Amino acid sequence: MPWCEECARYFTPTAMTANGECPSCGRHIDEVAGLSDDERTPWHFKLLVTALIAYLGWRIIVLFV
Ligand SMILES: [Zn+2]
Repeated sequence: MPWCEECARYFTPTAMTANGECPSCGRHIDEVAGLSDDERTPWHFKLLVTALIAYLGWRIIVLFV
């Protein structure tokens, strides 16, 4: 659902203007097609998850060696 950060509220697609803008502040809030959740994930979160997987993998290897 489109979210306007300026107004801190959600809008239904019908509540927006025809151009996908916020009716209150005019900010473009229409969800951009092609922008997946993966692209919205911050890089440091990915780094943290990768490090966690590597750490757990290492602990498992150590457990069986
Ligand atoms: Zn707004």
